[in-house]
Amino acid sequence: MLPTITVNNKKCTDPLSCRKCLLICPTHVLGLGTKVGPKKHQEIDPSQFIVAGVRFEKCTGCMDCVNVCPKSAIQVSF
Ligand code: SF4
Ligand code: SF4
Repeated sequence: MLPTITVNNKKCTDPLSCRKCLLICPTHVLGLGTKVGPKKHQEIDPSQFIVAGVRFEKCTGCMDCVNVCPKSAIQVSF
């Protein structure tokens, strides 16, 4: 069964600097994206970056991302 993974972007305000969840996930489920999509040859403001679930089928439910997040911004449920 695929998990539901939500990241509260109001709590996760600087994913570029933090990245703890991205680094700890053993199966690289989470990804870094932007609210504005790709912008070729244009600088994207750091505030526009977001963390989101990308490869849901790889999630083992280990909850490492939930536990490592200093802002309690991630929820994983099955
Ligand atoms: S619960 Fe584990 S496998 Fe799933 S996204 Fe979080 S760290 Fe990755
Ligand atoms: S660990 Fe939490 S605060 Fe840090 S980038 Fe991931 S979701 Fe954002």
